[in-house]
Amino acid sequence: MTATAPSTAISTAIRHDWTLQEARDLFELPFNDLLFRAQSVHREHFDPNEVQVSTLLSIKTGACPEDCKYCPQSGHYNTGLEKEKLLEIEKVVAEAKAAKGKGASRFCMGAAWRSPSKKDMPYVLDMVKQVKSLGLETCMTLGMLKESQAKELADAGLDYYNHNLDTSEKFYSHIITTRTYKDRLD
Ligand code: SF4
Repeated sequence: MTATAPSTAISTAIRHDWTLQEARDLFELPFNDLLFRAQSVHREHFDPNEVQVSTLLSIKTGACPEDCKYCPQSGHYNTGLEKEKLLEIEKVVAEAKAAKGKGASRFCMGAAWRSPSKKDMPYVLDMVKQVKSLGLETCMTLGMLKESQAKELADAGLDYYNHNLDTSEKFYSHIITTRTYKDRLD
């Protein structure tokens, strides 16, 4: 049996101006056509068989004041999780070195906070600097940031910030009540 490629033209240019109709058309594609298109674009820009290894470390675990219903780290639920304070910088650096030794090129540090406090920021900034100086890409997820905190993290050398929207605006209050979709979007 001979497989034939889908006839849909493949646009490989990097674009930021997708129309709603184009997005809908993509959404409606048969699954295998979608896979084919995704693979084609991927192969054009990256080594098809290479993956980046990233390691995630929880730098502060549990007792989060938010009530995200999917999360065992929320202080609102009794999940039996062992709480931990913010880890010492030396411990984070040791974990980052070990991750690099195992082939990671990116190190992500996550804290169970609504947002980082003023007193925690100097530690967090130092972590970024020290992990970056090991030659690793740095990534953090610390909750909601003020613009000034985002700038401080960037100036310290943070490469990526991870922040998700949790769910749709319509469904938001069913999942989280301690903040709004708008807070998260901001
Ligand atoms: S903000 Fe993050 S750590 Fe806190 S409960 Fe929600 S998902 Fe968990």
